[in-house]
Amino acid sequence: MRDLGLSEEEVMRGLQKMRGKDLSYDRILSSMCTPPHPIALKAHQTFQETNLGDPGLFPGSAELEQQAVRMMAELLGHPNATGYLSTGGTESNIQAIRAARNAHNSRDGNIVVPKSAHFSFDKIGDLLCLEIRKADLDGDLKVDVSSVEELIDEKTVSIVGIAGTTEFGQVDPIDRLGKLALDSGIHLHVDAAFGGFVLPFLKGSWKWDFRAEGVTSITIDPHKMGMATIPGGGLLFRHSEDLERLAAYAPYLTMARPKALTGTRSGAAAAAIWAVMNYLGKEGFTKVVDSCMDLSRRMVSGAREIGIEPVIEPVMNVVTLRMDHPEEVRADLLECCWRVSTTRSPKALRLILMPHTTSENVDLFLADLEDVLKRRA
Ligand code: PLP
Repeated sequence: MRDLGLSEEEVMRGLQKMRGKDLSYDRILSSMCTPPHPIALKAHQTFQETNLGDPGLFPGSAELEQQAVRMMAELLGHPNATGYLSTGGTESNIQAIRAARNAHNSRDGNIVVPKSAHFSFDKIGDLLCLEIRKADLDGDLKVDVSSVEELIDEKTVSIVGIAGTTEFGQVDPIDRLGKLALDSGIHLHVDAAFGGFVLPFLKGSWKWDFRAEGVTSITIDPHKMGMATIPGGGLLFRHSEDLERLAAYAPYLTMARPKALTGTRSGAAAAAIWAVMNYLGKEGFTKVVDSCMDLSRRMVSGAREIGIEPVIEPVMNVVTLRMDHPEEVRADLLECCWRVSTTRSPKALRLILMPHTTSENVDLFLADLEDVLKRRA
């Protein structure tokens, strides 16, 4: 650190220089995040000094958190679910599995996750000293329930289903996993970090949330398709005793038994989540999701016109285009300033059609993709 401080102008100049190195979202097709909704930014600014880790000092912010949790509980089919706002999908997944492990009082257990699970589950194995068993996927890239069943033994504390896989946007058969969890007397955690703010607004009637019997907990991320500010995550439990299993005694705070993983927590993120959910309502979110799905279909039909097939018909706004060398195509697209990502198996170019994506950009992208592929042919 320097001895003497800089002027405000100098500090701002330094910040602007670095901000100029950051990318703007418009040509990003690889991210599950998006610029926050303007109402989220206003809410965030209003609450930026508040700390949910000490809720007695910020009772208004704490009430916003409770109301946001209640709105999400209702969205996920169980208005009495309890939970809290986390820093994102990783924290929510860690805490859900910690609750399952503590419920079984196990220190050498295992969990069974789909091979498609987010890499946060590998960290969970390390942090919570659990073996992570990975179940096979079927031809549609959903978890194969019989493979999950084979991997369960007397040391299994939880199984995991994904509602919106990170790579392909696929939804596992949560209702069948729920029955298996009930029969085995173990938890079923649903990772809907991405799907939580997509699936409720899609037409379709499959059971993937608390409406499916046996679902114990759900991860849902407002800072992805919920258009809230970062860090905005959510974790919900069907039974309040599972939330209680996360409590630690805090002698000097205004809350005796906090449940979150982090101590100091942003009330600004809670305000942003509350603001977007109330501002858009179900009608507003449905329009956002409809538009992202329209873009996804436009991307798929445009890709088909240039001879590329999707790995699966998009279930949500994740499009994966099958090709042999997606990493090389990704590098070529980078030269046209497009940021895309790739999948591992099957190999594909992975595109997320987020609220910041426009139909003009989908068309521009497809034209550049066609050029890149022609040059490589
Ligand atoms: N779970 C799923 C399905 C995800 O797609 C992601 C991130 O993309 C996560 C968990 C982790 O979320 P975060 O990056 O907010 O920790």
